[in-house]
Amino acid sequence: MPKKRKNRGRKLGDSGHEKVVQCVQCGRAVPADKAVKVTRWVSPVGGSLGRDLERQGTYISKRLETRYYCISCAVYLGIVRPRAEEERHIAVPLNRSTSKRKSSKLPLKFLKV
Ligand SMILES: [Zn+2]
Repeated sequence: MPKKRKNRGRKLGDSGHEKVVQCVQCGRAVPADKAVKVTRWVSPVGGSLGRDLERQGTYISKRLETRYYCISCAVYLGIVRPRAEEERHIAVPLNRSTSKRKSSKLPLKFLKV
C-alpha cells in the first residue's frame, strides 16, 4: 500500500508505544511523538504591565511552558502546514516550516521563533 508519509506522520521509529499527551486546544489524546510540541518562555505578568515593569528594570522570572497540539489544531492555528508531495520528502525542522506567520490565528507569542 502506498504511504503518504515515510514516517506515517509520527516520530515513533521502532519503539512500540509512546506516552499519550492531551491537546491544549481541543483536549484530544494524542501520542507524544505525533503531537506538535511548542515550548516558550511565559511571564506571570503579561501584557503592558509586564513590559512597563521590565522597562523600569524590574526582574520578572519566567517559566518554560510546553504545549502539545494535535495535528488538526496545529494546522488550524498555523503552527504547521500541509505540504505538497515533493515538499514532504524534504526534511525541515518543525519551527522553520511555518513562513506564513502573519496570517496565523495564534498570537505571535505562542509561536516558536
Ligand atoms: Zn487539538
